[in-house]
Amino acid sequence: MAILEISGLRKSYGSTEVLRGVDLQVNAGELVCVIGPSGSGKSTMLRCCNLLEVPTQGQIVANGHEVTSPSVNINHVRQDIGMVFQQFNLYPHLTALENVSLALLKVQGKTKVDAEQIAMAALEQVGLGARAKFYPAQLSGGQQQRVGIARAVALKPHVILFDEPTSALDPELVEDVLNVMRDLRKRGMTMLVVTHEMAFAHAAADRVVFMDGGVVVEQGTAAEVFEAPREARTKSFLARYG
Ligand code: ADP
Ligand code: MG
Repeated sequence: MAILEISGLRKSYGSTEVLRGVDLQVNAGELVCVIGPSGSGKSTMLRCCNLLEVPTQGQIVANGHEVTSPSVNINHVRQDIGMVFQQFNLYPHLTALENVSLALLKVQGKTKVDAEQIAMAALEQVGLGARAKFYPAQLSGGQQQRVGIARAVALKPHVILFDEPTSALDPELVEDVLNVMRDLRKRGMTMLVVTHEMAFAHAAADRVVFMDGGVVVEQGTAAEVFEAPREARTKSFLARYG
């Protein structure tokens, strides 16, 4: 069953067309990795899915609700579709627990007691129960990103979008974050992950999508795309990662 269905998605900035008809589907419980060169529209595609960008044309349906409908409720969309950013986007003046609790309080209208209980469980799930009272500056980049993941998880979304979640991290911290994502996958979370971590995509993804020039050039199982790419553009992109 499709949890996220993107059809004919187009996005232009002025006269520059950045997405030129993207079709992509993520089924329940799948981990789909999106790879492709810088500037190919990967971030724009993710940002269109939770309306951080307004699509120019096309349809996005998440969990049966049309995100691109003119009457859509943005708050519902953002509770249904979690997002994890490259730069974490945590509030520096709030503790880990407060960062994770915020949307539970302000958007979902939970009581403080309920919000903190849910937030604490999410922090424990990413291995940060003991860091709940720490501020972002007191945490490593990998820990900050795990707070970012806990914040997404706490809202119990149907799908989580990750935009290069490990690109801002020192190499020794990358694996901790990838392990949290592997664990989420095991728990059945549906995930769409833009990444340059090719070993992770190869080993962990149910499907791999290669984007270039604002379109999906090729997609298949991880084995198909990495071991037997069909398109010349995919082959030359992968050759650079040797
Ligand atoms: P990727 O994530 O694959 O590197 P992006 O989606 O960030 O690609 O960007 C795709 C193209 O869209 C790039 O050429 C980028 O310069 C352009 N772009 C992205 N955001 C904007 C914006 N807000 N205004 C104008 N151009 C943008
Ligand atoms: Mg990007």
